[in-house]
Amino acid sequence: MEMTDIKSMDMEHLRLFVESLGEKKFRAKQLYSWMHQKLVKDFEEMTDLSKTFRERLKKECVLGSVSIRREQISKKDGTRKYLMELRDGNMVETVLMKYHHGNSVCVSSQVGCRMGCRFCASTVGGLTRSLETSEILDQIYEIQRHTGERVSNVIIMGIGEPLDNYENVVRFIRMLSDENGLHISQRNITLSTCGLVPRIYDLMEEDLTITLAISLHAPNDGIRRQMMPVADSFSMREIIDACKKYIQKTGRRVTFEYTLVQGTNDSRENAGELSGLLRGMLCHVNLIPLNAVEGRMGQRSVPQNIREFQEVLEREHINVTIRREMGSDIDAACGQLRNKNRK
Ligand code: SAH
Repeated sequence: MEMTDIKSMDMEHLRLFVESLGEKKFRAKQLYSWMHQKLVKDFEEMTDLSKTFRERLKKECVLGSVSIRREQISKKDGTRKYLMELRDGNMVETVLMKYHHGNSVCVSSQVGCRMGCRFCASTVGGLTRSLETSEILDQIYEIQRHTGERVSNVIIMGIGEPLDNYENVVRFIRMLSDENGLHISQRNITLSTCGLVPRIYDLMEEDLTITLAISLHAPNDGIRRQMMPVADSFSMREIIDACKKYIQKTGRRVTFEYTLVQGTNDSRENAGELSGLLRGMLCHVNLIPLNAVEGRMGQRSVPQNIREFQEVLEREHINVTIRREMGSDIDAACGQLRNKNRK
């Protein structure tokens, strides 16, 4: 018999499921709280449910979907990187970053990725499969259990393209922010995408207050196509238009990520062109110094170019920051730990 993935069910779905097992509807709330607030990993611990109900759940459902296989702690800044094993033996990475304003977790949304960005480590080997909602939630639950500390911010920026796993990711966001779960404010959740335009339009209809981050990485389509195959499918014009609509609809500021690759997209001219594109938009640019990946495209821009790039944007009154590097001593960058483990 196929085991039921009960942790991927939102409250409504769980109510129907509980009823289908002949239990009262209100049991769903108890069950939900055990899974998503108390974060227990065994049905036995759910002591306010009857023994027969627990037995039945144990026989038909699975609870824990990921387990920590390795933990690396950065000596520089305390960033922790986890290699997480899924029930089928696949691995993903999850990163915990400690900031003064709280603990931030970066989750993976797929095993591998099929977007093929040429500088990225996660895309080596292509896409194996998308993660279930429970597998995305459990990355956070495992870390919270492991550290005993509350997670306050979540970024969907690990391995995978979240909008290529749309339904599971949107349900993940709703369940993570549900008052019956960890109740993490949607304002503290960021979703990063390489720019799947039709899915961005879908997302703005979901009535969420998350931050949308777009991996732009280029000032024009020509350069973007050198870096990202997805640029063959969607133009920057289409992406920027979708973002403007997203801002209009949600009132939320959009973040543009821009990974600086030496000699490819990091000149003053490139910065000028980017400014022209973004002028007047409610947005923020996050410059990311490339983490050069062996066998992948590019070298990191030199610090002076990064600063100059920033200055050009600032002069045009565009909100810009350079991403602080976290955990650079523990392969915290983008799929590198998983790759090491695959070899
Ligand atoms: N697929 C999503 C989310 C995962 S990647 C997306 O494309 O946004 C998260 C961010 O890290 C993206 O902006 C991505 O382009 C960037 N990134 C990937 N590999 C990198 C590398 N080697 N160095 C710096 N940034 C990288």
